[in-house]
Amino acid sequence: MITNNRLTPEQYAANFADIHPPFETHDAALVEANRCLFCYDAPCMKLCPTSINIPKFIKQISTENIKGSAHTIFSSNIFGAGCGKVCPVEKLCEGACVYNLMDEEAIPIAKLQRYSTEKAIEQKWKLFERKPSTGKKVAIVGAGPAGLSCAHVLSREGVDVTIYEKESKGGGLMTYGIAAYKVTPEFCEDEVDYILSIGGITVKYNRELGKNVSLKKLQKKYDAVYLSIGVGLTRNLGIKGEELEGVVDAIDFIYTLRDKGYSSVPVGDKVAVIGLGMTAIDAATQAKRLGASEVTIVYRRTHAEMPCTQHEMDIALLDGCKIKWLSAPKEVLGHHGKVAGLVCRVMELGTPDASGRRSPIETKEAFTLDVDMVIKATGQTPFIKLIEENELDNKSGKIVISNGCRTSVPSVFAGGDAVNGGKEVVDAVQAGKDGAKGILEFIGMWKAEVEPVYNNSVIALKE
Ligand SMILES: Cc1cc2nc3c(=O)[nH]c(=O)nc-3n(C[C@H](O)[C@H](O)[C@H](O)COP(=O)(O)OP(=O)(O)OC[C@H]3O[C@@H](n4cnc5c(N)ncnc54)[C@H](O)[C@@H]3O)c2cc1C
Repeated sequence: MITNNRLTPEQYAANFADIHPPFETHDAALVEANRCLFCYDAPCMKLCPTSINIPKFIKQISTENIKGSAHTIFSSNIFGAGCGKVCPVEKLCEGACVYNLMDEEAIPIAKLQRYSTEKAIEQKWKLFERKPSTGKKVAIVGAGPAGLSCAHVLSREGVDVTIYEKESKGGGLMTYGIAAYKVTPEFCEDEVDYILSIGGITVKYNRELGKNVSLKKLQKKYDAVYLSIGVGLTRNLGIKGEELEGVVDAIDFIYTLRDKGYSSVPVGDKVAVIGLGMTAIDAATQAKRLGASEVTIVYRRTHAEMPCTQHEMDIALLDGCKIKWLSAPKEVLGHHGKVAGLVCRVMELGTPDASGRRSPIETKEAFTLDVDMVIKATGQTPFIKLIEENELDNKSGKIVISNGCRTSVPSVFAGGDAVNGGKEVVDAVQAGKDGAKGILEFIGMWKAEVEPVYNNSVIALKE
């Protein structure tokens, strides 16, 4: 049966507690900071899409310069605090730490990053000054990581920024999508407020491009427009029974959980989750943590081709989720209009497809999972209708950009998930910085001295 309120408030609190708790004492942070070898070629920094100067900020922690450390991080990544919680560091900075080659624990870079940046947010440290207004005006559509990162760089340069956001809160998927045991909605709100505290950025909430905002009007009113609208809901499965009550979209499911609170989210007793990306893992683990007794992830390929990281999968396995490899959904069975089972086809692997992974091929074998809820997490689809209506060149709905992040429409720029089709928060933050650079060049405000302000790592490399 699908129902909400399965657990007590204490159980919800325990199930959704921070999966990576912060350092408990200052000394604990110092011990870890002092283990850093400050490698000459800093492989950790090379794998950070925003090029945070990691050795520098760790050195600043070890010399008790916490404010300087937060400044170093935020100069390259204004979402440095959130990224310290949500980045898949095992495949980024921490995965590149040389200690991994010595069979030693990698430096806990993300935890150290949180150590200084969370202090900065809590204590509202003012680390950046905005230049006086230049009178230049830029509109940004979407207040997610890409939009806010772009807004931050532009505002520091004295551009007046207006963000149009369709939801009533900022942060994008950081606020509405990422698992609650990684970031809480309260933290996201504080992070957005902190980013906006630089001034010069107005956010117009509940304003939606294509509904109550038009691109043509924005083009007329502003010197440039940056589109950072992300991607939309999950792809349809295209199978019989998909319309039954109890078949839900993973993004919708997580959105409700983040927006309305744990006890209000209905969850089945036995749940199947289709897909094995980060969204599937988040949907499966959170269904389990909401009180589902059995959660089975259905994936059509094998461990070698899975899109999530091993670390992510381990979270799901430790939560007791099961995985059915080489299995694809074939039909959702119903009873009185509600989900009563999921028929899956057994697959085998054929030759590599366009993604370079071996493609799944149906066999004649099938099996039925006894489930009362099916969560679809098979990748998000871009806002293709909106993009085509606005005559933006696109590839299957992903906005095409050229040098300087320009779209095919004059004075319109784009970045983040809307362009890359869905990566990580840290990629969106870098996209926002790149978009700001393209816009500053376009409006004649890009000067050599902007570069160090825009990217801290450049200063470091010059030193
Ligand atoms: C379930 C899930 C879990 C994830 N987990 C992680 C994780 O653990 N770690 C990680 O690094 N990344 C994770 N990601 C990916 C990450 O959230 C995204 O890559 C990132 O948020 C993209 O930023 P963005 O600014 O491009 O888009 P978004 O964050 O999607 O922001 C787009 C913004 O535009 C607004 N918008 C959309 N259309 C309109 C419109 N027409 N008019 C006005 N506003 C509009 C939206 O409301 C939103 O605020 C996850 C994604 C999902 C779906």
